[in-house]
Amino acid sequence: MGKLLVLVLLVVIAVWLIKRALRASSGADPAVKKPIQGELVTCARCGLNLPREEAREAGGVLFCSEEHARLGRS
Ligand SMILES: [Zn+2]
Repeated sequence: MGKLLVLVLLVVIAVWLIKRALRASSGADPAVKKPIQGELVTCARCGLNLPREEAREAGGVLFCSEEHARLGRS
């Protein structure tokens, strides 16, 4: 009977540890739900929306990448 009690106790501890691990991994995940900071701008070449700080400016127009800035407006 004593062995059964230990087994039950181990199962309860295991379930508790798994639940805790799942809560920790799903609760603290700021990388997935990162809010978009700053204003969104549109690439003049492909129309992609991206944060202002990630955009490249060329000739007073905003682009999503160095390549699109080089290619210019579509
Ligand atoms: Zn683009």
